[in-house]
Amino acid sequence: MPVNLLEFDAEALEGYVTQLGEPAFRARQLLRWIHQRGTADFAQMTDLAKSLRGALAREAEVRTPRLVGDSLAPDGTRKWLLQVDGANAVECVFIPETARGTLCVSSQAGCVLDCAFCATGKQGFNRNLSTAEIIGQLWLAQRALAGEATGEAKDSTQRAITNVVMMGMGEPLLNLDQVLPALRLMLDDRAYGLSRRRVTVSTAGVVPGMERLREECPVALAVSLHAPDDALRDQLVPINRKYPLRALLAACNRYLERAPRDFVTFEYVMLDGVNDSDAHARALAGIARSVRSKFNLIPFNPFPGSAFHRSPSERIRRFAEILQRAGATVTTRKTRGDGIAAACGQLAGDVADRTRRTRTVRRLQPAAELNA
Ligand code: SAH
Repeated sequence: MPVNLLEFDAEALEGYVTQLGEPAFRARQLLRWIHQRGTADFAQMTDLAKSLRGALAREAEVRTPRLVGDSLAPDGTRKWLLQVDGANAVECVFIPETARGTLCVSSQAGCVLDCAFCATGKQGFNRNLSTAEIIGQLWLAQRALAGEATGEAKDSTQRAITNVVMMGMGEPLLNLDQVLPALRLMLDDRAYGLSRRRVTVSTAGVVPGMERLREECPVALAVSLHAPDDALRDQLVPINRKYPLRALLAACNRYLERAPRDFVTFEYVMLDGVNDSDAHARALAGIARSVRSKFNLIPFNPFPGSAFHRSPSERIRRFAEILQRAGATVTTRKTRGDGIAAACGQLAGDVADRTRRTRTVRRLQPAAELNA
């Protein structure tokens, strides 16, 4: 099996080229070719010595997941289905806005956490994605988006992707060994060159993972709060039974010591009649006072078989108002891409469920040859 260069962050790539008997600076050139210019063909890497190009062609490759689906919503949101192995496919979503473009990236095929309102959880969990499968989403999306305008990848100055959020399928903090090198590539000036503030990791509240992220690669942090007290949060976000609110909020405050932004984003899904009362909002205001934070209210996005309903917009407005009056900063997330099941919580991909949470393993559609 050839070595997949997408598995390597800058340091690992240096190790690899040194082991080939090449000077370490070759790794920087390689990073630029692979990640900035989106090149997978070593023959095109003309500033590398011919001998190195030959060695790479013999024993290495740039291997991304296979594109097996591509849907575009009327609002411009685009969703790709990426086959990562014979049994699993994950989803990745691009959300264009006026002044920025956000790529929502998956970290696992399925998810073990099984939050009550999330489609990914219902698919069960199969496995962690590798670094190549994570950064490969960015590689493919950048190429697809740039290719549209010019027929081939553009350079870094014209990138469509200005922000990355690890808010796709899976819990990134349960796969840090693979996620961290991918994050480092996102930040590396020779690769994707995004600032720490423009890369967000979202967690359901895996406290040890928050500690490790803070130490090794502090980027912007979002925490899926969804309830103001343990009794309700235990039901909605079952990992709360392991890391209850007190521990979670303390971890948020520790994270802020190293965070690139001076606040944590609290995500809060608005579930009709479940977590959206005035009393819930007032209780949340107490949490807002204990952690420097911003609230992002997410209107619930339904999916087949989901048991919840979206709070009416008037309820969401009133909820936001109570929080704001109490001094909190609140935004309400615009629902994007729900027509193509690309909205928050709707990503299910195609995951062979080892936990048998759902009975049947759905089959992948025959692959449209989008890679061609
Ligand atoms: N596991 C991480 C990454 C997922 S991010 C985490 O939990 O944070 C996806 C965000 O969408 C999370 O805040 C998640 O709780 C939220 N979400 C999940 N299902 C949803 C749904 N059906 N509607 C709206 N938001 C949902």
